Amino acid sequence: MDKQMNYGSDYKFIPATSIGSGMGIQILPDLFCYTIQIVNILLVGNPETGDFVLVDAGMPESAAEIISVVEERFGRNSRPKAIILTHGHFDHVGGIIELVNQWDVPVYAHQLEMPFLTGQKSYPDPDPTVEGGMVAKMSPLFPNEPIDLGNNVETLPADGTVPHMPGFKWIHTPGHAPGHVSLFREKDGALIAGDAFVTVKQEYLYKVFTQELEISGPPRYLTTDWQAAKESVIKLEALRPSVAVTGHGLPLSGELLTSSLKKLVNEFDQIAVPDYGKYIDKNTH
Ligand SMILES: [Zn+2]
Ligand SMILES: [Zn+2]
Repeated sequence: MDKQMNYGSDYKFIPATSIGSGMGIQILPDLFCYTIQIVNILLVGNPETGDFVLVDAGMPESAAEIISVVEERFGRNSRPKAIILTHGHFDHVGGIIELVNQWDVPVYAHQLEMPFLTGQKSYPDPDPTVEGGMVAKMSPLFPNEPIDLGNNVETLPADGTVPHMPGFKWIHTPGHAPGHVSLFREKDGALIAGDAFVTVKQEYLYKVFTQELEISGPPRYLTTDWQAAKESVIKLEALRPSVAVTGHGLPLSGELLTSSLKKLVNEFDQIAVPDYGKYIDKNTH
Protein backbone atom coordinates (compact mmCIF):
# COMPACT_ATOMS: atom_id res chain seq x y z
CA MET A 1 0.00 0.00 0.00
CA ASP A 2 1.36 3.35 -0.95
CA LYS A 3 0.37 5.51 1.97
CA GLN A 4 0.95 5.22 5.68
CA MET A 5 -2.18 4.54 7.73
CA ASN A 6 -2.72 5.77 11.27
CA TYR A 7 -5.23 5.45 14.06
CA GLY A 8 -6.08 8.61 15.98
CA SER A 9 -3.78 9.42 18.92
CA ASP A 10 -6.59 8.51 21.37
CA TYR A 11 -6.83 4.96 19.96
CA LYS A 12 -6.89 2.41 22.76
CA PHE A 13 -8.35 -0.87 23.96
CA ILE A 14 -11.73 -0.39 25.63
CA PRO A 15 -12.41 -2.85 28.45
CA ALA A 16 -16.11 -3.49 27.84
CA THR A 17 -17.59 -6.87 27.12
CA SER A 18 -20.77 -8.93 26.83
CA ILE A 19 -21.76 -12.55 27.23
CA GLY A 20 -21.90 -12.72 23.43
CA SER A 21 -18.23 -11.78 23.04
CA GLY A 22 -16.32 -14.38 21.07
CA MET A 23 -19.46 -16.05 19.72
CA GLY A 24 -20.41 -16.51 16.09
CA ILE A 25 -23.85 -17.16 14.61
CA GLN A 26 -24.56 -18.33 11.07
CA ILE A 27 -27.71 -16.43 10.22
CA LEU A 28 -27.93 -17.56 6.59
CA PRO A 29 -25.62 -19.91 4.67
CA ASP A 30 -23.69 -16.85 3.47
CA LEU A 31 -24.18 -14.55 6.44
CA PHE A 32 -22.08 -15.05 9.56
CA CYS A 33 -22.16 -12.69 12.52
CA TYR A 34 -19.44 -12.62 15.18
CA THR A 35 -19.33 -10.52 18.34
CA ILE A 36 -16.13 -8.71 19.32
CA GLN A 37 -16.68 -7.62 22.95
CA ILE A 38 -19.74 -5.41 22.38
CA VAL A 39 -19.90 -4.98 18.60
CA ASN A 40 -20.71 -7.27 15.69
CA ILE A 41 -18.70 -7.96 12.57
CA LEU A 42 -20.12 -9.83 9.59
CA LEU A 43 -18.70 -12.22 7.06
CA VAL A 44 -20.80 -12.22 3.90
CA GLY A 45 -20.16 -15.03 1.44
CA ASN A 46 -20.49 -18.76 1.21
CA PRO A 47 -17.57 -20.79 2.63
CA GLU A 48 -17.97 -23.20 -0.31
CA THR A 49 -17.01 -20.58 -2.87
CA GLY A 50 -14.43 -18.83 -0.74
CA ASP A 51 -15.50 -15.39 -1.98
CA PHE A 52 -16.46 -13.17 0.90
CA VAL A 53 -16.48 -9.69 2.31
CA LEU A 54 -15.96 -8.39 5.84
CA VAL A 55 -18.52 -5.84 7.04
CA ASP A 56 -17.10 -3.59 9.79
CA ALA A 57 -13.83 -4.12 11.61
CA GLY A 58 -14.51 -4.49 15.32
CA MET A 59 -13.10 -2.93 18.47
CA PRO A 60 -9.58 -1.54 18.94
CA GLU A 61 -6.91 -4.24 19.09
CA SER A 62 -9.21 -6.95 17.71
CA ALA A 63 -7.46 -7.61 14.38
CA ALA A 64 -5.84 -10.90 15.44
CA GLU A 65 -9.18 -12.22 16.62
CA ILE A 66 -10.90 -11.16 13.39
CA ILE A 67 -8.22 -12.89 11.32
CA SER A 68 -8.66 -16.12 13.27
CA VAL A 69 -12.46 -15.97 12.87
CA VAL A 70 -12.01 -15.49 9.12
CA GLU A 71 -9.53 -18.36 8.84
CA GLU A 72 -11.72 -20.66 10.87
CA ARG A 73 -14.66 -20.08 8.54
CA PHE A 74 -12.92 -19.70 5.18
CA GLY A 75 -9.65 -21.55 5.63
CA ARG A 76 -6.07 -20.76 6.39
CA ASN A 77 -4.67 -17.64 4.74
CA SER A 78 -8.07 -16.76 3.32
CA ARG A 79 -8.81 -13.09 2.89
CA PRO A 80 -11.94 -11.12 2.03
CA LYS A 81 -12.30 -9.37 -1.31
CA ALA A 82 -13.01 -6.11 0.50
CA ILE A 83 -13.96 -4.53 3.80
CA ILE A 84 -17.23 -2.59 3.78
CA LEU A 85 -17.85 -0.07 6.56
CA THR A 86 -21.34 0.85 7.74
CA HIS A 87 -19.68 3.92 9.29
CA GLY A 88 -16.40 4.96 10.87
CA HIS A 89 -17.00 4.97 14.63
CA PHE A 90 -14.13 3.54 16.70
CA ASP A 91 -15.99 0.28 17.42
CA HIS A 92 -16.47 -0.42 13.71
CA VAL A 93 -12.92 0.35 12.54
CA GLY A 94 -10.94 -0.87 15.56
CA GLY A 95 -8.87 -3.52 13.79
CA ILE A 96 -8.92 -2.15 10.29
CA ILE A 97 -5.34 -0.96 9.80
CA GLU A 98 -3.81 -4.31 10.76
CA LEU A 99 -6.41 -6.06 8.58
CA VAL A 100 -5.63 -3.95 5.53
CA ASN A 101 -1.91 -4.49 6.11
CA GLN A 102 -2.42 -8.23 6.43
CA TRP A 103 -4.83 -8.72 3.54
CA ASP A 104 -4.06 -5.83 1.21
CA VAL A 105 -7.74 -5.33 0.34
CA PRO A 106 -9.75 -2.18 -0.39
CA VAL A 107 -12.09 -0.57 2.14
CA TYR A 108 -15.37 0.99 1.03
CA ALA A 109 -17.50 3.56 2.83
CA HIS A 110 -19.98 6.30 2.03
CA GLN A 111 -18.65 9.57 0.66
CA LEU A 112 -19.81 11.47 3.76
CA GLU A 113 -17.73 9.25 6.07
CA MET A 114 -14.51 9.99 4.18
CA PRO A 115 -13.39 12.94 6.36
CA PHE A 116 -13.55 10.64 9.41
CA LEU A 117 -11.61 7.89 7.67
CA THR A 118 -8.87 9.97 6.12
CA GLY A 119 -7.73 11.92 9.15
CA GLN A 120 -9.48 15.15 8.21
CA LYS A 121 -12.20 15.47 10.82
CA SER A 122 -13.23 14.10 14.22
CA TYR A 123 -16.80 13.02 14.85
CA PRO A 124 -18.72 15.34 17.18
CA ASP A 125 -17.82 14.54 20.80
CA PRO A 126 -19.89 11.75 22.36
CA ASP A 127 -22.46 12.98 24.88
CA PRO A 128 -21.96 11.62 28.41
CA THR A 129 -24.91 13.71 29.63
CA VAL A 130 -27.43 11.94 27.38
CA GLU A 131 -30.25 10.01 29.04
CA GLY A 132 -28.84 6.50 29.54
CA GLY A 133 -26.58 4.34 31.68
CA MET A 134 -22.89 3.67 32.24
CA VAL A 135 -21.88 3.14 28.62
CA ALA A 136 -23.11 6.64 27.84
CA LYS A 137 -21.21 8.00 30.83
CA MET A 138 -18.05 6.17 29.75
CA SER A 139 -18.31 7.51 26.21
CA PRO A 140 -15.75 10.34 26.62
CA LEU A 141 -13.14 7.58 27.02
CA PHE A 142 -13.89 6.22 23.57
CA PRO A 143 -11.47 7.01 20.76
CA ASN A 144 -12.94 9.88 18.78
CA GLU A 145 -10.12 11.17 16.63
CA PRO A 146 -10.32 10.16 12.99
CA ILE A 147 -8.29 7.31 11.67
CA ASP A 148 -6.41 7.82 8.45
CA LEU A 149 -6.74 5.04 5.92
CA GLY A 150 -5.09 7.15 3.24
CA ASN A 151 -5.82 5.89 -0.24
CA ASN A 152 -6.87 2.47 1.01
CA VAL A 153 -10.45 3.67 1.42
CA GLU A 154 -12.76 4.26 -1.53
CA THR A 155 -16.31 5.56 -1.83
CA LEU A 156 -19.13 3.12 -2.40
CA PRO A 157 -20.32 3.03 -6.03
CA ALA A 158 -22.90 5.71 -6.83
CA ASP A 159 -25.25 3.15 -8.41
CA GLY A 160 -26.04 1.61 -5.02
CA THR A 161 -24.25 -1.68 -5.61
CA VAL A 162 -21.87 -3.05 -2.99
CA PRO A 163 -18.49 -4.26 -4.27
CA HIS A 164 -18.15 -8.06 -4.04
CA MET A 165 -21.60 -8.40 -2.46
CA PRO A 166 -23.80 -9.35 -5.43
CA GLY A 167 -27.50 -8.76 -4.80
CA PHE A 168 -26.89 -6.25 -2.02
CA LYS A 169 -27.57 -2.54 -2.29
CA TRP A 170 -26.29 0.11 0.09
CA ILE A 171 -28.85 2.46 1.56
CA HIS A 172 -27.86 5.81 3.04
CA THR A 173 -29.15 5.81 6.62
CA PRO A 174 -27.72 8.95 8.26
CA GLY A 175 -28.47 10.29 11.73
CA HIS A 176 -26.11 8.18 13.83
CA ALA A 177 -23.27 9.24 11.50
CA PRO A 178 -23.50 11.44 8.40
CA GLY A 179 -22.41 8.74 5.97
CA HIS A 180 -23.92 5.76 7.74
CA VAL A 181 -25.10 3.02 5.37
CA SER A 182 -27.14 -0.14 5.74
CA LEU A 183 -26.93 -3.03 3.28
CA PHE A 184 -30.02 -4.79 1.94
CA ARG A 185 -30.58 -7.84 -0.26
CA GLU A 186 -33.98 -7.76 -1.90
CA LYS A 187 -34.01 -11.45 -2.88
CA ASP A 188 -34.27 -12.77 0.68
CA GLY A 189 -34.84 -9.59 2.68
CA ALA A 190 -31.48 -9.77 4.50
CA LEU A 191 -30.63 -6.47 6.16
CA ILE A 192 -27.30 -5.40 7.61
CA ALA A 193 -28.45 -2.39 9.57
CA GLY A 194 -25.20 -1.19 11.14
CA ASP A 195 -26.10 1.22 13.95
CA ALA A 196 -29.18 2.72 12.21
CA PHE A 197 -31.08 0.76 14.83
CA VAL A 198 -29.79 -1.86 17.24
CA THR A 199 -31.36 -4.69 19.23
CA VAL A 200 -29.88 -3.86 22.61
CA LYS A 201 -30.02 -0.74 24.76
CA GLN A 202 -26.39 0.11 24.03
CA GLU A 203 -26.25 2.92 26.60
CA TYR A 204 -26.62 0.55 29.55
CA LEU A 205 -23.65 -1.54 30.66
CA TYR A 206 -25.84 -4.24 32.21
CA LYS A 207 -28.05 -4.62 29.13
CA VAL A 208 -25.00 -4.65 26.88
CA PHE A 209 -23.42 -7.33 29.06
CA THR A 210 -26.49 -9.58 29.04
CA GLN A 211 -27.37 -8.68 25.42
CA GLU A 212 -31.02 -8.50 26.49
CA LEU A 213 -33.03 -8.25 23.29
CA GLU A 214 -34.78 -4.90 23.00
CA ILE A 215 -35.39 -2.93 19.83
CA SER A 216 -33.65 0.38 20.13
CA GLY A 217 -32.70 3.39 18.05
CA PRO A 218 -29.05 4.08 17.28
CA PRO A 219 -26.65 4.23 20.27
CA ARG A 220 -27.54 7.57 21.87
CA TYR A 221 -24.20 8.95 23.02
CA LEU A 222 -22.91 9.12 19.44
CA THR A 223 -26.10 10.07 17.61
CA THR A 224 -26.28 13.73 16.71
CA ASP A 225 -29.15 14.06 14.23
CA TRP A 226 -32.30 12.45 15.59
CA GLN A 227 -34.58 13.63 12.79
CA ALA A 228 -32.35 11.97 10.20
CA ALA A 229 -32.05 8.89 12.43
CA LYS A 230 -35.83 8.59 12.50
CA GLU A 231 -36.14 8.94 8.74
CA SER A 232 -33.50 6.24 8.33
CA VAL A 233 -35.45 3.78 10.48
CA ILE A 234 -38.62 4.56 8.51
CA LYS A 235 -36.69 3.85 5.30
CA LEU A 236 -35.44 0.49 6.60
CA GLU A 237 -38.84 -0.58 7.93
CA ALA A 238 -40.37 0.13 4.53
CA LEU A 239 -38.05 -2.47 2.99
CA ARG A 240 -39.84 -5.19 5.04
CA PRO A 241 -36.63 -7.06 5.90
CA SER A 242 -36.97 -10.72 6.87
CA VAL A 243 -33.79 -10.84 8.92
CA ALA A 244 -31.69 -8.06 10.38
CA VAL A 245 -28.18 -8.02 11.80
CA THR A 246 -27.36 -4.87 13.73
CA GLY A 247 -24.05 -3.40 14.85
CA HIS A 248 -24.86 -4.22 18.45
CA GLY A 249 -27.11 -6.90 19.91
CA LEU A 250 -28.56 -10.13 18.61
CA PRO A 251 -29.94 -10.72 15.10
CA LEU A 252 -33.71 -10.46 14.69
CA SER A 253 -35.92 -12.18 12.14
CA GLY A 254 -39.44 -12.99 11.02
CA GLU A 255 -42.51 -11.71 12.80
CA LEU A 256 -40.50 -10.45 15.78
CA LEU A 257 -38.40 -8.27 13.48
CA THR A 258 -41.46 -6.98 11.62
CA SER A 259 -43.36 -6.08 14.78
CA SER A 260 -40.28 -4.64 16.53
CA LEU A 261 -39.44 -2.39 13.59
CA LYS A 262 -43.03 -1.24 13.29
CA LYS A 263 -43.02 -0.38 16.98
CA LEU A 264 -39.73 1.49 16.65
CA VAL A 265 -41.13 3.56 13.78
CA ASN A 266 -44.41 4.30 15.55
CA GLU A 267 -42.84 5.09 18.90
CA PHE A 268 -39.47 6.43 17.77
CA ASP A 269 -39.65 9.58 19.90
CA GLN A 270 -40.36 7.51 23.03
CA ILE A 271 -38.11 4.50 22.38
CA ALA A 272 -35.13 5.99 20.58
CA VAL A 273 -34.84 9.69 21.22
CA PRO A 274 -33.39 10.46 24.66
CA ASP A 275 -35.38 12.74 26.96
CA TYR A 276 -32.32 14.93 27.41
CA GLY A 277 -28.83 15.31 25.98
CA LYS A 278 -26.76 17.89 24.20
CA TYR A 279 -27.86 16.78 20.72
CA ILE A 280 -31.54 17.09 21.59
CA ASP A 281 -33.28 20.13 20.23
CA LYS A 282 -35.56 21.19 23.05
CA ASN A 283 -37.77 23.11 20.66
CA THR A 284 -38.74 20.20 18.48
CA HIS A 285 -38.76 17.42 21.02
ZN1 LIG B 1 -21.73 3.88 15.69
ZN1 LIG C 1 -21.47 0.91 17.00
